[in-house]
Parts: sequence; structure tokens; C-alpha cells
Amino acid sequence: MATKLEYIWLDGYKPTQSLRSKTKIVENFNGKVEDLENWSFDGSSTEQAPGGSSDCILKPVFVVPDPQRKRAYLVMCEVLDSKGQPHESNGRALIQDDDNDFWFGFEQEYFLWDPATNKPLGFPAGGYPGPQGPYYCSIGTKNAYGREIVEEHLDTCLEAGLNVEGINAEVAAGQWEFQIFSKGAKEAGDQIWVARYLLERIGEKHGVSINWHCKPLGQLDWNGSGMHANFSNTLLRTANSKAKLEAVCEAFRPAVAECIAVYGADNNMRLTGKHETASITDFSYGVSDRGASIRIPLYAVDHGWSGYLEDRRPNSAADPYKVAAVIIKTVKSAKE
Ligand code: ADP
Ligand code: MN
Ligand code: MN
Ligand code: MN
Repeated sequence: MATKLEYIWLDGYKPTQSLRSKTKIVENFNGKVEDLENWSFDGSSTEQAPGGSSDCILKPVFVVPDPQRKRAYLVMCEVLDSKGQPHESNGRALIQDDDNDFWFGFEQEYFLWDPATNKPLGFPAGGYPGPQGPYYCSIGTKNAYGREIVEEHLDTCLEAGLNVEGINAEVAAGQWEFQIFSKGAKEAGDQIWVARYLLERIGEKHGVSINWHCKPLGQLDWNGSGMHANFSNTLLRTANSKAKLEAVCEAFRPAVAECIAVYGADNNMRLTGKHETASITDFSYGVSDRGASIRIPLYAVDHGWSGYLEDRRPNSAADPYKVAAVIIKTVKSAKE
């Protein structure tokens, strides 16, 4: 039976990569990623290759059914260059977590955006809605904007088998969040990218675009969008020691520049020290501290200083693959 495979990849645009995809028809696909063939695309149209030697390779790495199309699957791919090596745009290839010891929970925030007004849903064409306060976790037509889209996205993610753990309306009007958790850094990244893909496609149906920028309303008194990265490995999950958790936090202090380089474009606009953020130039950590770079959740303290940490600095437009790669590298550098 003819089946649609949507090969999805990240383009080579800097500083923010975007999703691209194209459909391949095959006969009798069994649903297993290892049985999928590599494919190719014109890298000269995606800032990934020169015109004279334009072929890049798509290597399938993660596949789920596509609940919104008949007889269809979504196929997340890594991009390889013409020699079969990971392309420089391929953040997934940087992840050093072959035994899936690292677990990640990403909190993806975003704005539903009205292309007609170039403002978030809920913003009147000529001005602004009332100030922040009532929108976070709100209900009601005057406070919650775009729920129909958000619910459709949640149902679609769950039907596809993505491990969404929750959703909530966020602090700004028209701003929402979903959380995805996975035991394994590569798959956590795969799931976030597929969930972003589905949100974009659902937005198309409703004539609403998704704004992933970390501060789409500039420096007005409206929250920006983050993608908090909650992470753990065996060390953190079984630490049973305040000193061990703090040693991991300390490993991030000399790595500020390396982390910020992949925590998303324009993060200087968002990490100001206001709106539950730390300043981009500082490094701090603390129990329950939502103004810190890294928060030690109360959960960890309550579990005898074992559990996970939350890096609050990655923003909504960051690549979860690159975020995971730098976090893993930094955690592994911690002094015992
Ligand atoms: P908050 O908004 O208070 O920061 P959320 O409930 O939105 O918290 O997100 C918490 C995230 O932490 C969830 O995505 C969850 O999957 C993740 N998480 C919980 N335990 C672990 C763990 N052991 N390792 C990694 N992530 C974890
Ligand atoms: Mn959250
Ligand atoms: Mn949030
Ligand atoms: Mn958080």
C-alpha cells in the first residue's frame, strides 16, 4: 500500500535553523526507522551546500505516525554532507549520549501569532490588551487565546506517540507552553522538533503562525519565551549529596559563553534579570530560584539532594540537540 513518508530536517540558516520537509511515497513501510532509506535534497536552496555540488543526504533517525494525514509517517532526519559525514548544521551528531544515560525534559514556550496584525493572538490590531497577570494558566474568552489550536496540537502529539507531559497558557497573552520528556538526549531533541513541526502544520490550517522568537514584543513589559532544559544523568539521579549537585552546577560557571552560544539567538533581549530570568552575563544557581541561571528544583532537595537540574537560559528558538550536547559535555566535566 502506498504510504507517505514526510522526511523532515533542519536547514542551514544562521543563527536560527528552520524546519524543512518533503514527501516520499513508498510501498509497504513497516514503521521501523532502521528500514528507511537515506534520501537527498538540494542543499544550495537551504544554505547547506554550494550550487555546484548541491546534494546533501537525509538520514532517517526517528519515525512516528502522522495523525493528520492518511497513511503517513513523520521521519526526522539528520543531514549528512555529500561524503556521508555529519553536516556542520547537524546538532544531533554532537550529542555524546550513546547509552541514553541523560534524560531531558524541555519546556517549550511559543506565541500564537496573527499574521494580519503581526501581533500575538488576543492583541487588538491597534494596541495592547490589559497588562500581564490574568493570562498564565487562564481560562475564559477574555484571557485564553487560541486554545483550539493548542488542544489540536496536544491531541496530535499524543496520537503520534510523543511523550508530552503537559501544556499550559503562559504569562503573556497568546503565549503557551508544552513539555516533552525523554530518557535519552537524542530522542528528546527528536520529539521537540517533531512537536514543533506539527504545531507549524496545525497553524497553517488555522491561518495562525508560530512565533518562536525569544522576545517577540521587544522590551515592553511582556514575558519572553524560553525552553527551560531539565536534565539528569545517573550521577544527578542518585547523588544523595548537596555537594555533588552543586559541583555539577559549578561546572557550568566557566562554560557560560559556550552555553549561551547555542541557547538561542537574541537571548540578550530575554536574559535581562527581569521576567523570571537571570542576566546573560551572570551565572548563578539556587534552590527554587526562578531568577537563577540554573534552578535546583525543590524536588531534588526533597529527595535527599538527588534528582534533576533546570537550566533556565535556553530560549524558545534554540536547537534542543545543541542545547543537550553542551549540557552533557558540561555535566561530564564536573569535578567529583
Ligand atoms: P516548571 O514550569 O515549574 O519549571 P514543568 O512542570 O513545566 O516545571 O517542567 C518540569 C520538567 O522537568 C518536565 O518537563 C519534566 O519532564 C522534567 N523532569 C522531571 N524529572 C526529570 C528528570 N529526572 N530528568 C530530567 N527531566 C526531568
Ligand atoms: Mn513549565
Ligand atoms: Mn513556562
Ligand atoms: Mn521551568
